[in-house]
Amino acid sequence: MSQYERYHIPIEPAPHRAEHPSRFKVTVSRPGLAALLLKEVVHYRGDMDVVLSRPCVYGVFSGPIGGFAPRESLCVGCLRCTVQYPDMVTIEPNPARLDLGDSYISPDQVDTILYEASTGRVPVKGAGYRGAYGGDGWDGMWTDMSEIVRPTRDGIHGREYISTSIDLGSPPGRLSFGADGQPTSETCRLISLPVPFLFDAPPDAANRPDYLRALVRAAERIGSLVVLPLEWIRSDDLAGDSIVPIVATDEIDALQAYPSEFQAVELLDPDPGGLEAIRQAWPRAIVGLRSTYPLDEPAEVAATFDFIHLQADYHGQTADGFVLESIRELHQALVEAGLRSHVTLVGSGGIAAAEHVPKAIIAGLDAVALETPLLLAVQARFIGEVVEQASARLDMARLDEEWAAQRIVNLAGSWRDQLLEILGAMGLREVRRLRGELGRAMFQADLEREAFAGIEGYPDV
Ligand code: SF4
Repeated sequence: MSQYERYHIPIEPAPHRAEHPSRFKVTVSRPGLAALLLKEVVHYRGDMDVVLSRPCVYGVFSGPIGGFAPRESLCVGCLRCTVQYPDMVTIEPNPARLDLGDSYISPDQVDTILYEASTGRVPVKGAGYRGAYGGDGWDGMWTDMSEIVRPTRDGIHGREYISTSIDLGSPPGRLSFGADGQPTSETCRLISLPVPFLFDAPPDAANRPDYLRALVRAAERIGSLVVLPLEWIRSDDLAGDSIVPIVATDEIDALQAYPSEFQAVELLDPDPGGLEAIRQAWPRAIVGLRSTYPLDEPAEVAATFDFIHLQADYHGQTADGFVLESIRELHQALVEAGLRSHVTLVGSGGIAAAEHVPKAIIAGLDAVALETPLLLAVQARFIGEVVEQASARLDMARLDEEWAAQRIVNLAGSWRDQLLEILGAMGLREVRRLRGELGRAMFQADLEREAFAGIEGYPDV
């Protein structure tokens, strides 16, 4: 008898293994501290608990030898110590931390990803949001929940179910049945995924068996897919239902000779011969086109392939600018051609935080494919700018596969919970309804134009 099972991502604590730079450097004048301690021992009559807890309530000076070896990892930068003892304590941003990420993924975003990967929890800052309220890229798009009477928080707390499932593939336009009650319509090629994110092929520098196996293991555990070049799959002897090979036309023979069948394939070339060969060999497999923005002949591709995987670079840039506009244009073109329901759109590049997932879906994607956040989750360090797959350089220690897989699972769990927060706040019961739902978004540029156009000093563009 079938039994209902609520979808659940199995998060487990997976603490950092590599040292992570603290946010602040705490420098203490040792002679000054010794003199102060002597004075305070007298003042507090030898109560060492009190003497060693001051002046920091966060415990930075409460280690075994107090302020002589400050515990910098506990410092939150409140500056109380330096205000009270300006001649003795200096608090400065840690230069090592400022090196995290690159010009697209900030040190704060890296910290957030590391927290999500180690705990699987939603990062909540008690002091509220202290960042900017607008900016470039995804920061110029705000999700709008103001007009919705929030019907429930139950989806977040688990009493009601908000679905984060999506269907990857090409659903039939209609169903038809013969006299015997059996379906006569075309083969339905669909894969249901419980989350709207896949794992994409990492930069070439991360083509290592330990990392790729961890990706496959994590994808299996959350019921998603991992997209990898066929050559990597073969050379590392990877196997599993979650693997989606990326195949060039001249690799189709090698693909067909592969010992196991794949449930989905990404073709690098819209060549109809390659598509037909895969359809003949595996009629139930869904076949997607992997392409960069802008997509040539979108209507023709959408009518032919089951899904389209569009790639921006790791900074979200396409030939036409930031990926957000490119997604909106493609989605709109397919809506106007009457083909949007016929094909699934997956996008990768520029997704660096949990909030980018719903924003990309609102812009028109069905699902996103992740790459750089997964690397950061396993404590890989960027060397310089990480922009292109072939040229990206990484500092990556040898990984324990189980630990790395759990970190990726935790990141997925945290991002799904944050997606549930957004869906719950909008009163949506499933993420499929969020696709292209631009009424749920506001754009900073539009709002500023509405408010300020015509006023002297506002750039008239
Ligand atoms: S800045 Fe604040 S948290 Fe950091 S050491 Fe000083 S008192 Fe403690």
